[in-house]
Amino acid sequence: AAAIHTQGLTKDYGNGRGCRSVTITVKEGEAFGFLGPNGAGKSTFVKMLVGLIRPTGGEGSIFSEGIGTLEAKRLIGYLPELYRYQEWLTGQEVVELHAKLCGIGKLEAKRRIPQLLEEVGIGLRGRDRVKHYSKGMQQRLGLACALVSDPKIVFLDEPSSALDPLGRNDVRQLLRGLKAQGKTLFLNSHLLEDVEVLCDRVALLNNGQVLHSGSVADVLQEK
Ligand code: ADP
Ligand code: ADP
Repeated sequence: AAAIHTQGLTKDYGNGRGCRSVTITVKEGEAFGFLGPNGAGKSTFVKMLVGLIRPTGGEGSIFSEGIGTLEAKRLIGYLPELYRYQEWLTGQEVVELHAKLCGIGKLEAKRRIPQLLEEVGIGLRGRDRVKHYSKGMQQRLGLACALVSDPKIVFLDEPSSALDPLGRNDVRQLLRGLKAQGKTLFLNSHLLEDVEVLCDRVALLNNGQVLHSGSVADVLQEK
């Protein structure tokens, strides 16, 4: 089965905005990019796929499980755009909290979390309070949270937009590592470079609609 499939997926906020009839298929292990300017509908689309908002039309599935179902949610991790953490907690506590919300047992969490903090480059700074974290560190923390349930698909909403060039590079390297592990990635970005560096295929989105989709090289030529 496809990792992600949507057919005419639509969200109409009632003001003519949102996402209009998006049909895409993402294969397991692929990195798929959604490229478009601010307001194009990228976040709306991903929020539907992760079950945060309900579509007003069309359908979607995650490995054949309907979007919004518990079965689908178990297969995915999500890094929202500019996630705000409880800043009085330490990074490690944030990930522990997240693990709990995902239904991960204490023992499993104890085993996984230090390893995960290491993997995303937080390491011992997991003992610091989040209010002392830079934006780059916050994105690493967001990634750790997104990965805590060892999901098959990771949705990333503008993962590098708020970062400086060095931070962007770090996050791109981390995402490349995830891809190398065989994770399926779905990446929203308004930055061409994110997509060029990471994605196998891309869809260009504007005003809630897909203009072109295909391999990165093909789509950029169409542009
Ligand atoms: P992107 O992620 O590409 O920046 P969004 O999905 O956030 O785009 O937004 C798509 C469009 O829908 C924008 O015009 C935005 O203002 C509008 N929009 C987003 N959320 C809502 C909402 N809750 N109610 C009404 N309009 C919304
Ligand atoms: P994002 O780019 O992540 O979608 P936004 O800044 O567009 O973030 O939106 C922040 C919040 O405001 C979201 O919950 C979104 O649904 C809501 N929102 C965005 N645009 C509108 C709008 N035109 N009317 C009502 N709510 C909106």
